Amino acid sequence: MKEITGHTVLTGLLGSPVSHSISPLMHNESFRHLNLDYVYLAFDTNETQMEAAVTALRTLNARGFNVTMPGKQIVAGLCDHLSPAAKICGAVNTVVNDNGVLTGYTTDGIGYMRSLNEAGLNIIGKKMTLLGVGGAATSILVQAALDGVSEISVFNRKSPSFKRAKELIAALKEYSSCKIRLFDLADEELLRREIANSAILVNATSIGMAPHTDCSVITDSSMFHKDLVVSDVIYNPRETKFLQLAKEAGCTTLNGLGMLLYQGAEAFKLWTGQDMPVELVKEKYFSNK
Ligand code: NDP
Repeated sequence: MKEITGHTVLTGLLGSPVSHSISPLMHNESFRHLNLDYVYLAFDTNETQMEAAVTALRTLNARGFNVTMPGKQIVAGLCDHLSPAAKICGAVNTVVNDNGVLTGYTTDGIGYMRSLNEAGLNIIGKKMTLLGVGGAATSILVQAALDGVSEISVFNRKSPSFKRAKELIAALKEYSSCKIRLFDLADEELLRREIANSAILVNATSIGMAPHTDCSVITDSSMFHKDLVVSDVIYNPRETKFLQLAKEAGCTTLNGLGMLLYQGAEAFKLWTGQDMPVELVKEKYFSNK
């Protein structure tokens, strides 16, 4: 490992919990490989500590940092500038510090769209059905609309997030001509109809995530059709029940590992100006087993 010196540049992660995160491994491996004098550390930071932690990183001139729950919205409010996508989402997962000026980005959606590209799947100009309106779903919705997906049908249960999603969709219309509609996830016939003419179906809810691996947001596999790409943002387990059902129905499937890898690669590029050695990182830390 490269020695830590008086010149070593600090990057890191704020959120809680963070000790399980794969980000320190991804970034430190990439710094080593490219011989960059940087280090990435995870700082367990709860909601009440978030503002003080951001002030400290700004003062100590850290190059930048990632933010995970529960800090994504709080830190968006502490940045001096926001990328267009971060502004629409009202959340950031990556901050760049230019000599005390903080710019917030949301790289999850960029990571998701790149994961499709890398898998040879082109959905630009096509229709998406998106399940969920939480953090992951919102970042995908915003980036897909900005990138030129022509139509997105979003489904969520009628919880308090439903109203918030309506407002976000209204705001997004100012930036994109994508046709976006929001529906109740409980309306199965509507869901079936929207999936029938979609090119891609995305699960961006947390249903099916470990330890609840026997759950799936869709249980009736007759909703899938063989021309459909089915993707899940979940990466633990690698193959969710949702993806298993889709695969059995003949669909092309994609798990959340690519989104995780490429959101990190985008942050890495923002901090260092260099491309993350993604093949190396993939081989070492992103086994599909
Ligand atoms: P959020 O809590 O922000 O959103 C969760 C979403 O799932 C909401 O739409 C929520 O609906 C919905 N949901 C949860 N439980 C139910 C249920 N029982 N019935 C119907 N809907 C439900 O979480 P995130 O968006 O941050 O994370 C979602 C998943 O994405 C997680 O599994 C996470 O690990 C994964 N993820 C993957 C990333 C990657 O890089 N691959 C990046 C970020 C997240 P409601 O709002 O109504 O509760």
